[in-house]
Amino acid sequence: MDRFQEAEIMRCVVCNSDNIQKKKVHEEIYLDNDIILVPVETLVCLSCGERYYDRRTMKYLEEIEKRIKSNEIALEPVGQVKIATIGG
Ligand SMILES: [Zn+2]
Repeated sequence: MDRFQEAEIMRCVVCNSDNIQKKKVHEEIYLDNDIILVPVETLVCLSCGERYYDRRTMKYLEEIEKRIKSNEIALEPVGQVKIATIGG
């Protein structure tokens, strides 16, 4: 198991903050006009929002994307994506 990131203090490569915590987030996979949300638990910089995925999470996301594209996962709609513009 890959636990190296939990054992040491990390600094954010974007904002240099050490305020990094494990959080539940929705990773977004874009497929044509659809956005698929994949709940994952990962390290997130609480200062700037940068996400840090460990190798296990990366593999999980790759696997999910592969299975979505080969229709092996039933996708459940939870809302609509809408576009708003002003003027034009
Ligand atoms: Zn940051």
